Formats: sequence, C-alpha cells, structure tokens
Amino acid sequence: MNIINVPSLEGKRVLIRVDFNVPLDSDLRISDDSRMIAALPTIKKTIKNNGKAIIMSHLGRPKNCFEKKFSLKNIVKHLSGLLQTNVEFSEYCIGPKAYKRVQNLKNGGVLVLENLRFYSEEKSGNEHFAKELAKLGDIYINDAFGTAHRAHASTSVIAKFFPKNKYLGSLFMAEMHALNRVLSAPKRPLTAIIGGSKISGKINIIKSLIAKVDVLIIGGGMAYTFAKALGGKVGKSLVEDEKIALAKTLLNEAKNNGVDFLLPTDSINADQFSNKAAINNSPICSIDEKYMGLDIGNESILKFSKKILASKTIIWNGPMGVFEMSNFESGTKKVASAICLATQKGAFSLVGGGDSVAAIKKFNLEGCVSYVSTGGGAMLEYLEGKKLPAISAILS
Ligand code: AMP
Repeated sequence: MNIINVPSLEGKRVLIRVDFNVPLDSDLRISDDSRMIAALPTIKKTIKNNGKAIIMSHLGRPKNCFEKKFSLKNIVKHLSGLLQTNVEFSEYCIGPKAYKRVQNLKNGGVLVLENLRFYSEEKSGNEHFAKELAKLGDIYINDAFGTAHRAHASTSVIAKFFPKNKYLGSLFMAEMHALNRVLSAPKRPLTAIIGGSKISGKINIIKSLIAKVDVLIIGGGMAYTFAKALGGKVGKSLVEDEKIALAKTLLNEAKNNGVDFLLPTDSINADQFSNKAAINNSPICSIDEKYMGLDIGNESILKFSKKILASKTIIWNGPMGVFEMSNFESGTKKVASAICLATQKGAFSLVGGGDSVAAIKKFNLEGCVSYVSTGGGAMLEYLEGKKLPAISAILS
C-alpha cells in the first residue's frame, strides 16, 4: 500500500509522518535540510491533489516536554520556502486546539504539528495518544523511513486507526526499493564496507552480511578489536576486550561461508585523540603501546579500493577512521572515492548511517553514489532481514 495507490486526496485530511529530525545550529538555523528535501514529493503530491497535508515529526531528543530548541516551529519558514507555499503551525499535536487548526486548513494547505516527542506517549507507543492523533486525518501516510524501526505512536500504533486508508510515502518506497536491490538477487560481487567505532553496535548486521556478501571490508575503530583477536598489539586503540571472542567467531563464520573478509593491514596512529597529536604509521598488529589507531593506512586503502572497484553492488555503513579530524580523514575519503569510481563503472552503491552520510557530504561526493539512505538504524535492521514495525503496521 503506497501513496501511488491512494484513490483520491481531494479535500482529504492527509496525516503524513515525516522525519524532519534535522540538525539545527546554535541560532536554530537548519544546517542540513536533506531529510526535508527527501520528504517533499509526498507532501507536494498531497497539496497538488488538493488534499490537506498535516505533517507530524519528531526533532532531536527533548525530555518529554516543550523545549524551544526542539520546536518544529523552527523549521516552518524553511518548509514554506521549499514548498513555495504558506505553511501553518499547530502548537499542539492532539486535542481540540489541534483539531480546530486542522478544521480551518484549506484544501491544498499545509499544517505542521509540534514535535511529537514533547509527549512521552509518542515513544512509549501509547494507544490513546495514537488514537487522538488519528482523529486529525482521513488518510495516514508514513514517509519517515528513518524511524521505521521504532514502534512509536505516530510510526506504527496509529496505523490501526486507518484500516483501509494507510499508505507508505514516496521516500519510504524509494528506500525499500534501493534496499531490495541489494537484498534480492544483487549483481555480484556484492561487497559490504562496515566501519564506525565499535563492533558491539553492529554485531547483528555483520552476522547477517556474512550470510549474504562476497566481500566484507571492516574499518574504523572496530578493526582494532579484530586485530587484537588475531594476536596483534594495538596499543591504546579502541578495543572492546569483551568482544574478542565474538570477533574470532565472526572471522570463523566468514571463513566457513567463503566470504572474503578484509581487515586493515596498516594503521595511522596518534599519541592522543586530537588533530594535533604526534602521528606515526605502522602495521595494524604492531602499534606502539603509547599510540592509538585513528585511521587505516595506505596499504589498506589500496587493498580495499581494489576490491571495491571489482564490485557490482556495494553497501557502505560507518567511516574508516576519525574522519571528523583532517589528519585522520584519508581512509574514509579514499574509500568513498573508490565507491564513487565503482559506481561510475556501473556498480550500484548504497550508503547509509549518519556518519557515512556526513562523510560523503564533507567530501562533496554525495551525488556520486547510487543511493543515500535517510535511515541509519532502520537501514541496518532492514538489511538484517528484521520486520520493521512501521512496515508491518501498514501491510498488516
Ligand atoms: P558509528 O556511530 O559506530 O558508526 O561510529 C562513528 C564514529 O566512529 C565516528 O564519529 C568516527 O570518528 C569514529 N571512529 C572511526 N574510526 C575510529 C577509530 N579508529 N577510533 C575511534 N573512533 C573511530
């Protein structure tokens, strides 16, 4: 059930859950509006067809009550500019005042409701809250792929109040289409590149990828736990000692599945976690005890790039090093460039996860990959094969 199948939007109150969880600077200006832009097609379709677009979202992590910096009022002017129409705002998400704002909305109008997470009932998935939200709409559309793995009131519970009028929006469908391209009959070789800080946050995805991919490349902080598991000396690098046994199991599983499991062989090390640190290069298995590995070295970059260039489908989640600091960005930048080159040669590349997306934006390579997912956790859970509550709620 997607927005393409919606019978008619004319005069209908269309309740749209989007992910407008955008970063704001200290002056409450939006520093990156990609998530808003991604959600525009569904909103535009609604207003173009004379529906009334009622927009629901969360923003940031408020403590269950009003906080100015997390108010969705901060995004209203920008949304008006993007849609080139006046966008109204309701300080309430539920109750008579919210209902009245919706009643007064003209066909083709847009109303943004206040941050859903100012109500504790949103995250707890409270049924009464979901029912009250549902009273504001005739049709429910979920276009918030980024929160699809959450069983919150507005992302999942609400759907039951629209048994015949619940849909997935255009962005949600595009995300699923891109992920399905990787999951079902991908062109091979299929390569996954997983980086980031720790193994602990990505165990499930690594395990499930081992069953699917031809090549698995590991970089970032988590590589040092693998290096230690193989008997290496990794100095002060980020290591999860309690995950060493698991790292060994994963290495064995990869071997048994015939997966080409690539770890960095060399490392760029620093004597402190700072861009001003003294730096040296060494094999990853013999890092000086006073140093910590903060990026992959040139040998690893070459080895990884070669595999990436030979791939036909590529998934990337997590940076290869501390790319936020210029002295440790090289591994992430060059791996991102290799993914772009492979894409130019015809590979399908999918990038997701807050930090990898931030990295490709930093290096201005965003337009060079096939698809940039707006979902981090949701993307990983979908790739793991988990049933996402938001999808089940629409399809059930
Ligand atoms: P994650 O949220 O798990 O994807 O981790 C992303 C974070 O991992 C980024 O902020 C990176 O700076 C950090 N990171 C990458 N490589 C390393 C490393 N070698 N040591 C410590 N942190 C790292």
